[in-house]
Amino acid sequence: MLLDFREGSASRVVINGKDGDPAIQNGHIELPAKLLVAGDNVVKIDFTAPVAAAGKAFTRFEDKDDNSEYIYTLFVPMDASMAFPCFDQPDLKGRFRLEVTAPEAWMVIANGPVQSTAKADAGQRRTMFEETRPISTYLFAFAAGPFRKVHESPGMPGLFVRKSKFSRAEEEAAEVQEITAAGIKYLADYFAQPFPFPKYDLVMIPGFAYGGMEHAGATFLREESILFRAAPTHSDHLNRDILLLHELTHQWFGDLVTMRWFDDLWLKEGFAQYMAYHALADLKPQENIWKRFYQAIKPAAYAIDSTKGTTPIYQDIGNLKDAKSAYGAIVYSKAPGVLKQLAFVLGEKNFRDGLRSYLKAHAYGNAEWNDLVRAFEQVSGKSLQNWATMWIKHRGMPQVDVEWNCDQGKISRLALTQHDVLGEGGIWPIKALVGLFYPKQQSTLNLQVDILIPAQLDSARLELSHEIGSPCPEYVFANTSDYAYGRFLLDASSGKVITEKLGSITDLFQRTLLWGSLWDSVREAELAPTEYINLALRLLPDEQDEALAQTLIGRTTAALHRYVSPEVRAQLVPKMEREASKQMLGSPQQDLRIIWFRGLRGVAETDEGRKQIKEILSGKLEVPGVTLRPLDRWTMVMALIATNDPDAAAIYAAEQKRDSTGDGRKYAYMAAAARPDAKTKQDYFNDYLHDPSRPEDWVEQSLGAFNYWNQSDLTLPYLKPALDALPQMKRERKIFFVLGWLNAFIGGQQSTAAQAQVQDFLQTAPVDKDLQLKILEVKDELDRTVKIREKYR
Ligand SMILES: [Zn+2]
Repeated sequence: MLLDFREGSASRVVINGKDGDPAIQNGHIELPAKLLVAGDNVVKIDFTAPVAAAGKAFTRFEDKDDNSEYIYTLFVPMDASMAFPCFDQPDLKGRFRLEVTAPEAWMVIANGPVQSTAKADAGQRRTMFEETRPISTYLFAFAAGPFRKVHESPGMPGLFVRKSKFSRAEEEAAEVQEITAAGIKYLADYFAQPFPFPKYDLVMIPGFAYGGMEHAGATFLREESILFRAAPTHSDHLNRDILLLHELTHQWFGDLVTMRWFDDLWLKEGFAQYMAYHALADLKPQENIWKRFYQAIKPAAYAIDSTKGTTPIYQDIGNLKDAKSAYGAIVYSKAPGVLKQLAFVLGEKNFRDGLRSYLKAHAYGNAEWNDLVRAFEQVSGKSLQNWATMWIKHRGMPQVDVEWNCDQGKISRLALTQHDVLGEGGIWPIKALVGLFYPKQQSTLNLQVDILIPAQLDSARLELSHEIGSPCPEYVFANTSDYAYGRFLLDASSGKVITEKLGSITDLFQRTLLWGSLWDSVREAELAPTEYINLALRLLPDEQDEALAQTLIGRTTAALHRYVSPEVRAQLVPKMEREASKQMLGSPQQDLRIIWFRGLRGVAETDEGRKQIKEILSGKLEVPGVTLRPLDRWTMVMALIATNDPDAAAIYAAEQKRDSTGDGRKYAYMAAAARPDAKTKQDYFNDYLHDPSRPEDWVEQSLGAFNYWNQSDLTLPYLKPALDALPQMKRERKIFFVLGWLNAFIGGQQSTAAQAQVQDFLQTAPVDKDLQLKILEVKDELDRTVKIREKYR
């Protein structure tokens, strides 16, 4: 029998009282059969494991603000075996006991409550933790260092932060703890299952690789996700709520009931994401949460699912080393999108009762996707076999089109059709709410109310003959309220009406969906990017919803930077800059002033635009009512560096003086990656590949600056080396890194030359299947860019 143990060393192995061989071979310690007995065995091992700034299971963080030191674990999906010998797979759960000896001034937080402490040698203290309930190896965790507990209030989850950020954390604590406490109550009730572990702590970890990680009883959170480093908008606060509720949901979905294997990763991630929105929609009913769900979830899902790099929700993971690749938009975005559709198909009550019975049946154990499907079938009495085959086991997605005609003011034909976006022939069972929309300004006497038709599309074509003879609508949209999953473009006649009337559609959710559909048309090269930009320039000034405005500003900027020619960009950027400046200074809403400020920073490239950025940095110009924070400032510095502003070097030096904190050093590193010169690119690239002391989040946060949109010529020489480095990145970096790496290096390119290089790499380089899929996924945007530029140049 083999115990997994990578990278460390063992000095002694005792198996049932007899000495074994402590040698580590191919990542394993052997437990010879002759020393094992049937039933329980006792194995004792003396071992050491490495601690480093990056790339290990134990990460050390040095706080440059007060020269203190922190150590924390992060094992998911397969690094527990880098920390200690174990059977490192999610379906072998264990009860852990942990004792930590650490300096007296340190605090240690782990999965369970502290049982006792005792004095140890020379200023050290031993902390003993209660035995955990049965948990998977990837959910074991501890963090140690001079942490401080923020706000000790009864009934509230513990909140920990490094001591140099204590007062900053105090400002945010109440909001963070309140939503978490409300979430615990809500989810325990919804799942009919009390919180599954003896306590719940939140630990803010500086430089943490992800937004959060749901260790049983002790969620670790990226400190920057909680303590905003840039002036936050209302949406930023709600997104933080979502993060907290996502990690909290995992205590049930993932920690209490764990997927048997990483092929079913969606079982935990899809539900955590879906339930986070579900909970927030009920906890904050005024916030239009399902609109936010659409904005945050669907575009990312469709963006991957329409590429040749997509996978089914259930992903074949042959080997644990490939498990990292399962993390991405399929599990985080498609799975929750599909769950929203399932809740619509089953009805809310059946959906909830199915989850209850699933959690109850597998508590403290493991389960697979078909266990869940069976639970839903039992409570609803519906067969979900075809549904599950197409939505869980089949890759890709449908495009749904509407065909409709009118004759003498009445509908003469109305039909839905679907086809497989990838052309692989799939037909999905789809339940959608088809909307027929009528003009609103008529006199109240002959006002025609909108018609909403629940339609079940199980074949390539569905005639909605029931509606024949209804009054002719102004436009039709087949995915009202976003229940269905798929690409829903507007038909030509509806599209024409929408481009004229979009600004007057008062239903915010509907307006957001229609803007989304238009953007899909741009990405399909069916709508000219200049048309979209002009529409946005016309309607954005009156858009009062901060979240929608932010999306539109982002897309307009992306279209300016990627899809239009330099000549068109030169014409349109000054308009966008002027509007951004006007709204940043004059909008009555603070949130809008913030997002327009960000918009100006993202788009400014003319002398006038950059002058304003410099005036904000120097304090000459203010965003009214908004106190800018360090990351706001550093991102402006980065933008000036990237656009080769003549004052950029001096401004950079001044900012370094102004902000010499630990975070400031990281942001300075990030900003300087944008320098438009070959030497900088070469130095950074060497650093990325060869400097093990560089914290992973420094690298991650500088990749976008390195590959700034206007520096394709400088960064093209690094495209091939970046692709060549993929196996190393997959091996050494944390789970989301590879995707961020690819998005930066491929995303920085816009040319057919770059396209050809990626294509060539795919055909000739011997990379794993999962990496090939990731490349195909990311290459899709480059292909679209090239196609759009060719078509509309
Ligand atoms: Zn998660």
